[in-house]
Amino acid sequence: MHETMPTTAIDDIVWPAVPDRRNATILALLFQFEQSQWWEPNRLIEAQFDQIRQLAAHAYLTVPFYRERFAEAGLTPADLDGPEAWRRLPLLTRADIQAAGEDLVTRALPAGHGRTKEIFTSGSTGTPIRAVRSELWEMIWSAFTQRDHLWHRRDRAGTLAVLRESGKGKAPYPDGVVSPGWGRSANPVFATGPSVSLNIRTSVDHQLLWLVRQNADYLLTHPSNAADLARLSLERGIELPDLRQVMTISEILQPAVRDLVREAWDVPVVDMYTAREAGYLALQCPDHEHYHVQSEGVYLEVLNDAGEPCAPGETGRVVVTPLHNFAMPMLRYDIGDYAEVGEACPCGRGLPVLTRILGRTQNMLVMPSGERHWPLLSSPNIKALLNLAPIRRYQFVQRDIRSLELRVEVSRPLQASETDALATWVRDKYGDVFTVTVTEMDELPRSPAGKFQDFVSEL
Ligand SMILES: [Zn+2]
Repeated sequence: MHETMPTTAIDDIVWPAVPDRRNATILALLFQFEQSQWWEPNRLIEAQFDQIRQLAAHAYLTVPFYRERFAEAGLTPADLDGPEAWRRLPLLTRADIQAAGEDLVTRALPAGHGRTKEIFTSGSTGTPIRAVRSELWEMIWSAFTQRDHLWHRRDRAGTLAVLRESGKGKAPYPDGVVSPGWGRSANPVFATGPSVSLNIRTSVDHQLLWLVRQNADYLLTHPSNAADLARLSLERGIELPDLRQVMTISEILQPAVRDLVREAWDVPVVDMYTAREAGYLALQCPDHEHYHVQSEGVYLEVLNDAGEPCAPGETGRVVVTPLHNFAMPMLRYDIGDYAEVGEACPCGRGLPVLTRILGRTQNMLVMPSGERHWPLLSSPNIKALLNLAPIRRYQFVQRDIRSLELRVEVSRPLQASETDALATWVRDKYGDVFTVTVTEMDELPRSPAGKFQDFVSEL
Protein backbone atom coordinates (compact mmCIF):
# COMPACT_ATOMS: atom_id res chain seq x y z
CA MET A 1 0.00 0.00 0.00
CA HIS A 2 1.22 3.48 -0.88
CA GLU A 3 1.79 5.45 2.29
CA THR A 4 -0.06 8.58 1.09
CA MET A 5 -3.09 6.77 -0.32
CA PRO A 6 -6.34 8.03 1.23
CA THR A 7 -8.48 5.39 2.92
CA THR A 8 -11.23 4.04 0.67
CA ALA A 9 -14.87 3.78 1.71
CA ILE A 10 -15.69 1.03 -0.76
CA ASP A 11 -14.08 -2.32 -0.02
CA ASP A 12 -13.47 -3.48 -3.58
CA ILE A 13 -12.17 -0.12 -4.84
CA VAL A 14 -8.56 0.05 -3.69
CA TRP A 15 -7.07 2.33 -6.33
CA PRO A 16 -7.62 5.15 -6.75
CA ALA A 17 -9.27 5.31 -3.34
CA VAL A 18 -12.86 6.52 -3.03
CA PRO A 19 -13.08 8.23 0.36
CA ASP A 20 -16.24 8.70 2.40
CA ARG A 21 -17.98 12.06 2.53
CA ARG A 22 -16.13 13.51 5.52
CA ASN A 23 -12.71 12.48 4.25
CA ALA A 24 -13.54 13.68 0.75
CA THR A 25 -14.32 17.11 2.22
CA ILE A 26 -11.01 17.20 4.10
CA LEU A 27 -9.18 16.22 0.90
CA ALA A 28 -11.04 18.94 -1.02
CA LEU A 29 -9.85 21.47 1.57
CA LEU A 30 -6.26 20.20 1.26
CA PHE A 31 -6.49 20.47 -2.53
CA GLN A 32 -7.40 24.15 -2.11
CA PHE A 33 -4.71 24.74 0.55
CA GLU A 34 -2.09 23.38 -1.87
CA GLN A 35 -2.96 26.27 -4.18
CA SER A 36 -3.83 29.10 -1.79
CA GLN A 37 -0.50 28.78 0.07
CA TRP A 38 1.17 30.30 -3.05
CA TRP A 39 -1.27 33.20 -3.45
CA GLU A 40 -0.09 36.81 -3.17
CA PRO A 41 -0.72 38.25 0.33
CA ASN A 42 -3.39 40.66 -0.99
CA ARG A 43 -5.35 37.89 -2.63
CA LEU A 44 -5.33 35.95 0.64
CA ILE A 45 -6.60 39.01 2.54
CA GLU A 46 -9.37 39.56 0.02
CA ALA A 47 -10.56 35.95 0.35
CA GLN A 48 -10.34 36.22 4.15
CA PHE A 49 -12.59 39.28 4.18
CA ASP A 50 -15.13 37.55 1.93
CA GLN A 51 -15.32 34.93 4.70
CA ILE A 52 -15.14 37.46 7.56
CA ARG A 53 -18.22 39.27 6.23
CA GLN A 54 -20.15 35.97 6.28
CA LEU A 55 -19.02 35.23 9.81
CA ALA A 56 -19.70 38.79 11.03
CA ALA A 57 -23.19 38.89 9.48
CA HIS A 58 -24.00 35.60 11.22
CA ALA A 59 -22.60 36.91 14.52
CA TYR A 60 -24.53 40.17 14.19
CA LEU A 61 -27.83 38.38 13.58
CA THR A 62 -27.63 35.41 15.95
CA VAL A 63 -25.14 36.22 18.74
CA PRO A 64 -26.48 38.76 21.29
CA PHE A 65 -23.00 39.90 22.36
CA TYR A 66 -22.09 41.09 18.86
CA ARG A 67 -25.32 42.97 18.21
CA GLU A 68 -24.21 45.29 21.01
CA ARG A 69 -20.54 45.28 20.04
CA PHE A 70 -21.26 46.40 16.48
CA ALA A 71 -23.68 49.06 17.69
CA GLU A 72 -21.11 50.49 20.12
CA ALA A 73 -18.49 50.62 17.37
CA GLY A 74 -20.96 52.25 14.96
CA LEU A 75 -20.43 49.43 12.46
CA THR A 76 -22.48 46.93 10.53
CA PRO A 77 -21.02 43.74 9.02
CA ALA A 78 -21.38 45.24 5.53
CA ASP A 79 -18.79 47.92 6.50
CA LEU A 80 -16.06 45.30 6.92
CA ASP A 81 -14.40 45.75 3.54
CA GLY A 82 -10.83 45.27 4.72
CA PRO A 83 -8.28 45.43 7.54
CA GLU A 84 -8.78 49.14 8.28
CA ALA A 85 -12.52 48.99 8.89
CA TRP A 86 -11.95 45.74 10.77
CA ARG A 87 -9.67 47.45 13.29
CA ARG A 88 -12.56 49.67 14.42
CA LEU A 89 -14.10 46.64 16.10
CA PRO A 90 -12.89 46.39 19.74
CA LEU A 91 -10.77 43.41 20.83
CA LEU A 92 -12.47 40.44 22.47
CA THR A 93 -10.74 39.68 25.77
CA ARG A 94 -10.87 36.58 27.94
CA ALA A 95 -12.71 38.70 30.51
CA ASP A 96 -15.32 39.57 27.82
CA ILE A 97 -15.75 35.87 27.09
CA GLN A 98 -16.21 35.02 30.76
CA ALA A 99 -18.68 37.87 31.30
CA ALA A 100 -20.70 37.19 28.12
CA GLY A 101 -21.29 33.49 28.88
CA GLU A 102 -24.19 32.19 26.77
CA ASP A 103 -24.47 35.55 25.00
CA LEU A 104 -21.44 34.65 22.86
CA VAL A 105 -23.05 31.44 21.59
CA THR A 106 -25.16 31.51 18.43
CA ARG A 107 -28.92 31.19 18.78
CA ALA A 108 -29.08 29.50 15.36
CA LEU A 109 -26.26 27.43 13.90
CA PRO A 110 -26.75 27.28 10.11
CA ALA A 111 -27.41 23.95 8.40
CA GLY A 112 -24.25 22.09 7.42
CA HIS A 113 -22.20 23.11 10.47
CA GLY A 114 -23.12 19.93 12.34
CA ARG A 115 -23.45 19.49 16.06
CA THR A 116 -21.66 21.57 18.71
CA LYS A 117 -19.30 20.56 21.45
CA GLU A 118 -18.06 22.58 24.39
CA ILE A 119 -14.52 22.65 25.72
CA PHE A 120 -12.86 24.40 28.63
CA THR A 121 -9.40 25.85 28.46
CA SER A 122 -7.25 27.98 30.71
CA GLY A 123 -4.44 28.54 28.20
CA SER A 124 -1.37 29.64 30.11
CA THR A 125 -3.10 32.60 31.75
CA GLY A 126 -4.97 30.64 34.38
CA THR A 127 -8.22 32.39 33.36
CA PRO A 128 -10.54 29.54 32.37
CA ILE A 129 -12.91 30.08 29.48
CA ARG A 130 -15.57 27.97 27.86
CA ALA A 131 -15.58 27.68 24.08
CA VAL A 132 -18.20 26.06 21.88
CA ARG A 133 -17.12 24.65 18.54
CA SER A 134 -18.95 23.13 15.59
CA GLU A 135 -18.37 19.81 13.90
CA LEU A 136 -17.61 21.63 10.64
CA TRP A 137 -14.88 23.65 12.31
CA GLU A 138 -13.35 20.48 13.78
CA MET A 139 -13.28 18.99 10.29
CA ILE A 140 -11.38 22.03 8.97
CA TRP A 141 -9.05 21.61 11.97
CA SER A 142 -8.33 18.04 10.72
CA ALA A 143 -7.38 19.42 7.30
CA PHE A 144 -4.67 21.58 8.94
CA THR A 145 -3.37 18.54 10.85
CA GLN A 146 -2.96 16.83 7.46
CA ARG A 147 -1.28 19.92 5.99
CA ASP A 148 1.31 19.80 8.78
CA HIS A 149 2.08 16.14 7.96
CA LEU A 150 2.37 16.98 4.24
CA TRP A 151 4.53 20.07 4.77
CA HIS A 152 6.96 18.15 6.96
CA ARG A 153 7.01 15.10 4.67
CA ARG A 154 6.19 12.63 7.40
CA ASP A 155 6.12 8.95 6.64
CA ARG A 156 2.64 8.03 7.78
CA ALA A 157 3.58 4.35 8.03
CA GLY A 158 5.82 5.23 10.98
CA THR A 159 5.12 5.07 14.72
CA LEU A 160 4.16 8.25 16.56
CA ALA A 161 5.03 8.50 20.25
CA VAL A 162 2.90 11.02 22.15
CA LEU A 163 3.78 12.50 25.53
CA ARG A 164 0.99 14.98 26.25
CA GLU A 165 -1.80 13.16 28.12
CA SER A 166 -2.04 14.70 31.56
CA GLY A 167 -5.24 13.16 32.97
CA LYS A 168 -4.74 11.36 36.27
CA GLY A 169 -4.37 7.60 35.79
CA LYS A 170 -4.49 7.86 31.97
CA ALA A 171 -1.83 6.20 29.77
CA PRO A 172 0.19 5.17 32.88
CA TYR A 173 3.76 3.88 33.04
CA PRO A 174 5.16 1.32 32.21
CA ASP A 175 3.11 0.57 29.10
CA GLY A 176 1.04 3.65 28.31
CA VAL A 177 -1.58 3.13 25.62
CA VAL A 178 -1.19 1.79 22.09
CA SER A 179 -3.63 2.98 19.39
CA PRO A 180 -3.92 1.70 15.83
CA GLY A 181 -3.56 5.19 14.25
CA TRP A 182 -2.08 8.64 14.84
CA GLY A 183 -5.41 10.38 15.30
CA ARG A 184 -8.64 9.64 17.13
CA SER A 185 -10.72 8.97 14.02
CA ALA A 186 -11.67 5.35 13.40
CA ASN A 187 -11.70 6.13 9.69
CA PRO A 188 -8.79 8.51 9.08
CA VAL A 189 -8.20 10.42 5.83
CA PHE A 190 -4.91 8.58 5.36
CA ALA A 191 -3.94 5.25 6.86
CA THR A 192 -1.09 5.59 9.38
CA GLY A 193 1.09 3.43 11.52
CA PRO A 194 0.31 3.08 15.24
CA SER A 195 0.68 5.67 17.96
CA VAL A 196 1.83 5.08 21.51
CA SER A 197 1.02 7.41 24.35
CA LEU A 198 2.34 7.90 27.88
CA ASN A 199 1.20 10.31 30.60
CA ILE A 200 3.36 13.46 30.63
CA ARG A 201 3.38 13.45 34.44
CA THR A 202 5.51 10.29 34.37
CA SER A 203 9.02 11.04 35.71
CA VAL A 204 11.50 12.01 33.00
CA ASP A 205 13.62 8.91 33.78
CA HIS A 206 10.66 6.64 33.17
CA GLN A 207 9.57 8.59 30.08
CA LEU A 208 13.00 8.06 28.57
CA LEU A 209 13.03 4.32 29.38
CA TRP A 210 9.60 4.04 27.76
CA LEU A 211 10.65 6.06 24.72
CA VAL A 212 13.70 3.86 24.11
CA ARG A 213 11.40 0.81 24.07
CA GLN A 214 9.03 2.33 21.44
CA ASN A 215 11.53 2.82 18.56
CA ALA A 216 9.23 5.61 17.42
CA ASP A 217 9.75 7.60 14.20
CA TYR A 218 8.14 10.76 15.57
CA LEU A 219 7.75 12.23 19.03
CA LEU A 220 4.97 14.70 19.87
CA THR A 221 5.25 16.53 23.18
CA HIS A 222 5.56 19.91 24.93
CA PRO A 223 8.83 21.80 24.28
CA SER A 224 9.85 21.79 27.97
CA ASN A 225 9.38 18.03 28.11
CA ALA A 226 11.38 17.49 24.91
CA ALA A 227 14.15 19.55 26.50
CA ASP A 228 14.09 17.48 29.70
CA LEU A 229 14.29 14.24 27.71
CA ALA A 230 17.07 15.52 25.47
CA ARG A 231 19.13 16.69 28.45
CA LEU A 232 18.76 13.32 30.19
CA SER A 233 19.66 11.48 26.96
CA LEU A 234 22.85 13.52 26.66
CA GLU A 235 23.71 12.92 30.31
CA ARG A 236 23.25 9.14 29.91
CA GLY A 237 24.51 8.81 26.34
CA ILE A 238 21.15 7.43 25.17
CA GLU A 239 20.34 7.54 21.47
CA LEU A 240 17.02 7.15 19.67
CA PRO A 241 18.20 5.79 16.31
CA ASP A 242 14.77 5.53 14.63
CA LEU A 243 13.59 9.01 15.59
CA ARG A 244 13.17 11.43 12.64
CA GLN A 245 11.41 14.51 14.08
CA VAL A 246 10.25 15.98 17.35
CA MET A 247 6.92 17.78 17.02
CA THR A 248 6.18 20.34 19.73
CA ILE A 249 2.88 21.87 20.84
CA SER A 250 1.12 23.70 23.69
CA GLU A 251 3.91 25.84 25.09
CA ILE A 252 6.19 28.57 23.79
CA LEU A 253 9.22 26.96 22.16
CA GLN A 254 12.46 28.40 23.52
CA PRO A 255 14.98 28.60 20.65
CA ALA A 256 17.56 26.66 22.68
CA VAL A 257 15.35 23.55 22.63
CA ARG A 258 16.04 23.10 18.91
CA ASP A 259 19.81 22.94 19.53
CA LEU A 260 19.41 20.63 22.49
CA VAL A 261 17.23 18.14 20.56
CA ARG A 262 19.61 18.26 17.59
CA GLU A 263 22.55 17.59 19.89
CA ALA A 264 20.87 14.70 21.72
CA TRP A 265 19.16 12.85 18.88
CA ASP A 266 20.31 14.55 15.66
CA VAL A 267 16.74 15.38 14.57
CA PRO A 268 14.89 18.66 13.92
CA VAL A 269 12.11 20.15 16.04
CA VAL A 270 8.93 21.07 14.16
CA ASP A 271 6.83 23.43 16.24
CA MET A 272 3.19 24.35 15.82
CA TYR A 273 1.15 27.23 17.22
CA THR A 274 -2.39 26.21 18.11
CA ALA A 275 -5.00 27.04 20.74
CA ARG A 276 -7.89 24.81 21.72
CA GLU A 277 -10.35 27.69 21.53
CA ALA A 278 -8.97 29.16 18.28
CA GLY A 279 -7.56 26.23 16.25
CA TYR A 280 -4.40 26.16 14.14
CA LEU A 281 -2.81 29.61 14.12
CA ALA A 282 0.61 29.01 12.55
CA LEU A 283 2.68 26.04 11.38
CA GLN A 284 6.42 25.85 10.89
CA CYS A 285 7.51 26.47 7.28
CA PRO A 286 8.55 23.26 5.50
CA ASP A 287 11.94 24.84 4.68
CA HIS A 288 12.67 27.24 7.57
CA GLU A 289 12.39 27.45 11.34
CA HIS A 290 9.89 30.31 11.31
CA TYR A 291 6.11 29.99 11.08
CA HIS A 292 3.43 30.58 8.45
CA VAL A 293 0.07 31.91 9.60
CA GLN A 294 -2.70 29.51 8.55
CA SER A 295 -4.62 32.19 6.69
CA GLU A 296 -7.19 29.79 5.24
CA GLY A 297 -8.48 29.17 8.77
CA VAL A 298 -7.71 32.29 10.78
CA TYR A 299 -7.30 36.03 10.29
CA LEU A 300 -4.31 36.80 12.53
CA GLU A 301 -3.22 40.32 13.45
CA VAL A 302 -0.01 41.33 15.25
CA LEU A 303 -0.60 44.77 16.77
CA ASN A 304 1.58 47.36 18.49
CA ASP A 305 0.49 49.27 21.61
CA ALA A 306 -1.38 51.80 19.45
CA GLY A 307 -3.42 48.97 17.90
CA GLU A 308 -1.70 49.33 14.51
CA PRO A 309 -0.21 46.38 12.59
CA CYS A 310 3.45 45.61 13.34
CA ALA A 311 6.00 45.78 10.52
CA PRO A 312 8.55 43.00 9.92
CA GLY A 313 10.98 42.87 12.83
CA GLU A 314 8.47 44.27 15.32
CA THR A 315 6.83 42.37 18.16
CA GLY A 316 3.22 42.86 19.16
CA ARG A 317 0.13 41.23 20.61
CA VAL A 318 -1.54 38.42 18.69
CA VAL A 319 -5.22 38.92 17.87
CA VAL A 320 -7.06 36.12 16.08
CA THR A 321 -10.37 35.55 14.31
CA PRO A 322 -11.09 31.89 13.51
CA LEU A 323 -12.96 32.13 10.19
CA HIS A 324 -15.23 29.11 10.41
CA ASN A 325 -16.47 28.57 13.95
CA PHE A 326 -20.05 29.83 13.67
CA ALA A 327 -21.04 28.14 16.96
CA MET A 328 -19.21 30.76 19.05
CA PRO A 329 -17.74 33.43 16.80
CA MET A 330 -14.59 35.04 18.18
CA LEU A 331 -14.00 38.30 16.35
CA ARG A 332 -10.62 39.88 17.14
CA TYR A 333 -9.84 37.62 20.10
CA ASP A 334 -6.88 38.88 22.13
CA ILE A 335 -5.32 35.50 22.81
CA GLY A 336 -2.68 36.92 25.16
CA ASP A 337 0.47 35.90 23.26
CA TYR A 338 3.06 38.09 21.59
CA ALA A 339 4.77 37.38 18.27
CA GLU A 340 7.42 38.89 16.02
CA VAL A 341 6.43 39.58 12.41
CA GLY A 342 8.79 38.33 9.68
CA GLU A 343 9.56 39.33 6.09
CA ALA A 344 7.97 37.39 3.22
CA CYS A 345 9.35 33.84 3.19
CA PRO A 346 11.95 32.82 0.57
CA CYS A 347 10.00 29.55 0.12
CA GLY A 348 7.51 31.54 -1.99
CA ARG A 349 4.42 30.92 0.11
CA GLY A 350 2.25 34.02 0.50
CA LEU A 351 1.10 33.01 3.98
CA PRO A 352 2.35 35.67 6.46
CA VAL A 353 5.46 34.88 8.50
CA LEU A 354 5.93 34.97 12.26
CA THR A 355 9.61 34.75 13.20
CA ARG A 356 9.05 34.02 16.85
CA ILE A 357 6.12 33.34 19.08
CA LEU A 358 6.66 34.76 22.52
CA GLY A 359 4.88 34.18 25.78
CA ARG A 360 2.50 36.41 27.56
CA THR A 361 3.37 39.86 28.87
CA GLN A 362 2.77 38.60 32.37
CA ASN A 363 5.78 36.34 31.76
CA MET A 364 8.12 39.23 31.03
CA LEU A 365 10.93 40.18 33.37
CA VAL A 366 10.36 43.64 34.87
CA MET A 367 13.46 45.62 35.82
CA PRO A 368 13.37 47.95 38.85
CA SER A 369 13.46 50.82 36.29
CA GLY A 370 10.13 49.55 34.89
CA GLU A 371 11.72 48.30 31.65
CA ARG A 372 10.42 44.93 30.48
CA HIS A 373 12.35 42.13 28.77
CA TRP A 374 11.59 38.68 27.39
CA PRO A 375 13.69 36.43 29.64
CA LEU A 376 14.85 34.17 26.80
CA LEU A 377 17.84 31.95 27.43
CA SER A 378 20.06 31.05 24.48
CA SER A 379 21.60 27.65 24.03
CA PRO A 380 25.05 28.82 25.32
CA ASN A 381 23.26 30.43 28.30
CA ILE A 382 21.70 27.12 29.24
CA LYS A 383 24.93 25.22 28.72
CA ALA A 384 26.70 27.67 31.06
CA LEU A 385 23.98 27.21 33.66
CA LEU A 386 24.20 23.42 33.49
CA ASN A 387 27.98 23.56 33.80
CA LEU A 388 27.66 25.20 37.21
CA ALA A 389 25.58 22.51 38.90
CA PRO A 390 23.92 19.13 38.20
CA ILE A 391 20.55 20.67 37.20
CA ARG A 392 17.72 18.52 35.79
CA ARG A 393 15.18 21.30 35.36
CA TYR A 394 15.03 24.93 36.28
CA GLN A 395 12.50 27.68 36.63
CA PHE A 396 12.93 31.40 37.22
CA VAL A 397 10.39 33.17 39.40
CA GLN A 398 10.21 36.93 39.72
CA ARG A 399 8.90 37.50 43.24
CA ASP A 400 8.89 41.29 43.23
CA ILE A 401 10.53 44.14 41.42
CA ARG A 402 13.91 43.46 43.03
CA SER A 403 14.11 39.72 43.60
CA LEU A 404 14.48 36.63 41.49
CA GLU A 405 14.31 33.03 42.58
CA LEU A 406 15.96 30.23 40.65
CA ARG A 407 14.23 26.93 41.40
CA VAL A 408 16.14 23.83 40.45
CA GLU A 409 15.57 20.09 40.37
CA VAL A 410 18.99 18.55 40.93
CA SER A 411 20.44 15.04 40.72
CA ARG A 412 22.18 15.49 44.11
CA PRO A 413 22.11 18.18 46.82
CA LEU A 414 24.05 21.32 45.87
CA GLN A 415 27.18 22.53 47.63
CA ALA A 416 27.26 26.08 48.94
CA SER A 417 29.81 27.05 46.27
CA GLU A 418 27.48 25.82 43.52
CA THR A 419 24.52 27.74 44.93
CA ASP A 420 26.68 30.89 45.03
CA ALA A 421 27.87 30.35 41.47
CA LEU A 422 24.28 29.98 40.24
CA ALA A 423 23.17 33.16 42.02
CA THR A 424 26.10 35.06 40.50
CA TRP A 425 25.25 33.73 37.06
CA VAL A 426 21.64 34.90 37.38
CA ARG A 427 22.77 38.39 38.43
CA ASP A 428 25.21 38.51 35.48
CA LYS A 429 22.44 37.51 33.10
CA TYR A 430 19.58 39.66 34.36
CA GLY A 431 21.32 42.49 36.20
CA ASP A 432 22.91 42.95 39.62
CA VAL A 433 19.92 45.05 40.66
CA PHE A 434 18.25 41.79 41.70
CA THR A 435 18.51 39.85 44.92
CA VAL A 436 18.79 36.21 43.85
CA THR A 437 17.86 33.12 45.83
CA VAL A 438 18.39 29.53 44.71
CA THR A 439 15.90 26.92 45.90
CA GLU A 440 16.31 23.16 45.46
CA MET A 441 13.01 21.42 44.80
CA ASP A 442 12.09 17.74 44.55
CA GLU A 443 9.75 18.44 41.69
CA LEU A 444 8.95 21.54 39.68
CA PRO A 445 5.19 21.45 39.16
CA ARG A 446 3.37 21.40 35.81
CA SER A 447 -0.01 23.10 35.33
CA PRO A 448 -3.17 20.90 35.40
CA ALA A 449 -2.86 20.65 31.59
CA GLY A 450 0.71 19.38 31.92
CA LYS A 451 2.32 22.64 30.82
CA PHE A 452 5.52 24.02 32.20
CA GLN A 453 6.90 27.56 32.19
CA ASP A 454 10.57 28.22 32.73
CA PHE A 455 9.90 31.83 33.67
CA VAL A 456 7.06 32.78 36.02
CA SER A 457 6.28 36.29 37.15
CA GLU A 458 4.43 36.80 40.42
CA LEU A 459 4.32 40.57 40.03
ZN1 LIG B 1 8.15 29.46 4.07
